[in-house]
Parts: sequence; C-alpha cells; structure tokens
Amino acid sequence: MAKQIPYKIYLEEDEMPKAWYNYRADMKNKPAPLLNPATGAPVTHDDLAHVFCDELVDQELDNTTPYIPIPDEIRKFYNMYRPSPLVRAYCLEEKLQTPAKIYYKFEGNNTSGSHKLNSAIAQAYYAKKQGLKGVTTETGAGQWGTALSMACAYFGLDCHVFMVKCSYEQKPFRREVMRTYGAEVTPSPSDTTEIGRKILAEHPGTTGSLGCAISEAVEAATSREGYRYVLGSVLNQVLLHQTIIGLEAKAALDKYGVKADVVIGCAGGGSNLGGLIAPFIGEKLRGENDYRIIAVEPASCPSFTRGTFAYDFCDTGKVCPLSKMYTLGCDFIPSPNHAGGLRYHGMSPILSQLYHDGYIEATTVKQTEVFDAAVKFARVEGILPAPESSHAIKAAIDEALRCKETGKEETIVFGLTGTGYFDMYAYQAYNDNQMSDYIPTDEELAKYREQLPKIGG
Ligand SMILES: *Cc1c(COP(=O)(O)O)cnc(C)c1O
Repeated sequence: MAKQIPYKIYLEEDEMPKAWYNYRADMKNKPAPLLNPATGAPVTHDDLAHVFCDELVDQELDNTTPYIPIPDEIRKFYNMYRPSPLVRAYCLEEKLQTPAKIYYKFEGNNTSGSHKLNSAIAQAYYAKKQGLKGVTTETGAGQWGTALSMACAYFGLDCHVFMVKCSYEQKPFRREVMRTYGAEVTPSPSDTTEIGRKILAEHPGTTGSLGCAISEAVEAATSREGYRYVLGSVLNQVLLHQTIIGLEAKAALDKYGVKADVVIGCAGGGSNLGGLIAPFIGEKLRGENDYRIIAVEPASCPSFTRGTFAYDFCDTGKVCPLSKMYTLGCDFIPSPNHAGGLRYHGMSPILSQLYHDGYIEATTVKQTEVFDAAVKFARVEGILPAPESSHAIKAAIDEALRCKETGKEETIVFGLTGTGYFDMYAYQAYNDNQMSDYIPTDEELAKYREQLPKIGG
C-alpha cells in the first residue's frame, strides 16, 4: 500500500545526493561553445582561467562527465541547511479544489533566502582550494551577493560585491546583511574601476545596471592578484551545482513512489530551473520517462518566448565571452515598472538548447497576475514568496486549475526559490493598486534584435 504523503518530505543524511548531475553528458545536441569576443573562436581553458577559478572552468567546459562528486567540505555545508523540504501543498490544493497533487521544493530556508547559496558555497570552496584571496561579483536585487557573502565568510575569503546603485539605495537591509557576513559592498557604477569612472563620466547621476556592475566586478577581479570573478546564474557550472535541488526532489518523490507529470520553474538566467529539472530531463533525454517541463518568465522580459537563439554578449560592457542562447539583446532592459525580478536579457545556453530541441516548454506571465498568485499562496501556505518564485506559483496554479477542468489527477512539482522579505516595495505597489503591466512591443524587441553581434552564424 502507498505510504501516506507527509506535508514535508525530508531525506536522511545518508539519502542525500553525493554527486551533481551534469546532463550535458546525456544531451545529443550539446550547448554551443562560448566564444572569445576578441577572436570569435571557442574559448579555451586558458581564456577563462584568468577570470574564473580553475576547477570551475573545468566544470564549465565539461560536456561529457555525467556525475561530478560533491566535495565533502561542500556536503558538510549543505548539511547545515539541506535537504530543503519538498512540501505537499495540501492547503493550496484544497483552496483551488483541484484533483491535482501539488508539491513545491522550498529553497528559502537559509539566511540568504534563496537557492543561490547552493552554487555560492561551491564556488567559494573552489576559490579557497586554489589558494585565492577572494572573489568579486555583482548583485542586482541582492540575493546572489548575500549568498556569496555567507559562503565566503565560511571559507574565510574576501568578498567584494558591486551592487547596482539603485538597489544599494533601495535595499539597505540587503546591503547590511552582506556587510554583516564581512563582504565589501560598492555601489555601481563606482569610481573604483576604470570602466566605472568611464560610465560615470558619460552618464553622471546614473543609478546603474546589472551589465555595468558585471563589467566592474570582472575588472576588479582581473586587475588584482589572487582574485577571481564569480557569477550566480546562466553559466553551466552554476546549473551543475543547482542540480542538488532536483536530485533531492526526485529522491524524495521516489521514496514515496510518486511520479511527477509536470515540473515548473521560474526562469531568470535559468539556474534554479536547470537545477530542479536535472533528474527529470535526464530520464527524458535517455528516453526512460516523459515529463512536461515548463519554464516561466515575465511577460516584460520574455527571453525564451520572444527572444532569438543566437550568439550574444552576456554583459552590457561586452567584456565577457559570447554565448549562444535565447536572448533579447544585451542592451535590453525591462521597463522600469517591472518589479518581479528575472530581468536578465539572456538564458542559460544549456536550457536554450533544450528549449530549441523541444524538451522544455516556456510560458510568460504578467506581474500583476504573479503578485495575485503570490498573495493567494502566502495566505494559504504561509510562506511569503519571492516575486521571482511567484512566477512558478502562478503557472502551477494555472496547471492545477486545468486539472480541475479535465478532472485529471496530475502531479505538479514546482520550485519555490526563495522568500520575499526584501521585496516589500514591490508588494507595497501591489497592495496599493499601483502595480501595472508592461509588455514590450514587437518593434522594441526588433530594435535590440538588429543589434545582436553578427557572429557564429
Ligand atoms: C536569482 C533568483 C531567481 C532567478 O534566477 P535563476 O538563475 O533563473 O534561477 C529566482 N528566484 C530567486 C528567489 C532568486 O534569488
């Protein structure tokens, strides 16, 4: 007889995954190689090694090793806040009166408040192992900077975060969490880098952008002995570390003999989605099982659904390698009224290839609908979700309502990537009925599409 499914399914320590799953090994069409922007040739290990840590470069370029052991030091840290619970959303199911069975994997149960810690601790570990002094990075909303500062504190590394100036000013508590963990936080653009001084001279009074903060962080790392740059999403290595999410979720479902039908994640740069779907997409790639996999993106930043699959720059400063991905163009910036995160112009090259090959679907949702779903969820399930995560909630609710119409008892699994305590300005706008939707027009998107670099076909 099937075991009663508890509200929360945990794994015992000895049931925890011992390796990350690199599903590039099972992809027939591998993601296209990164290109060196100066030469247009595929990047080599040496090209990347002056920017990133050595072992992370190996992981970035590894298309063939299916399982990469998680070092003991990282597993020890994971054990402090993992496994994250897989929660059966009984209360939401009842509220929706749906025959669907809804599960969510909750990654907000650590101080940084999101899944980003899973990769931050891995990247800090490899930096420490290489004998580096510290790492630099950029942060927009602040979740990545917070996660990285926690990870660096644990391994005794310097952490220098360039925080987009408007967030630095609007989210002082995020900044203070980072400083509490020992990070140096610089509002970007700043006068501490050449590129920052140039941007300030050209645009005095600018409140900054993610692309500009990336360029400053890369310069700060490459111009200092013993430092490397680290990134919180998009890259293959980040998806690899995030596979802990999906591996745990699948193990927890398997423990109770539950098979998922639909797996849903929000998609910014693609790291949580790429991590959540790992074992499911693996079975799909090997032809062992079938699942519907749905990426959910904001209607105001629709990389998958309205972008182009082409080589583009990963950053506005055009200093990073070119990546073949679904992109809106590296100069695309979502409308200022967009409050829901997931603002990146491109998408993970791995997920882009899988989407191109028909393994995953994508859908867009408007931010007012996203916050409707967030509030509905908070009131029945208790957790105050991050706006990013609420994109997945909205899609999961839609799927559950579809099941109500068809009477199908499907099992839906979605990623609840984090909590929304630092997003209360966005909730305030929603609560005050001040939130609106903006969907870019075809003409606007065409303008950026025309500016894509003419490279790599
Ligand atoms: C950063 C972030 C995301 C989006 O990033 P991905 O790389 O697409 O996963 C989603 N949810 C939360 C809570 C985040 O902090």
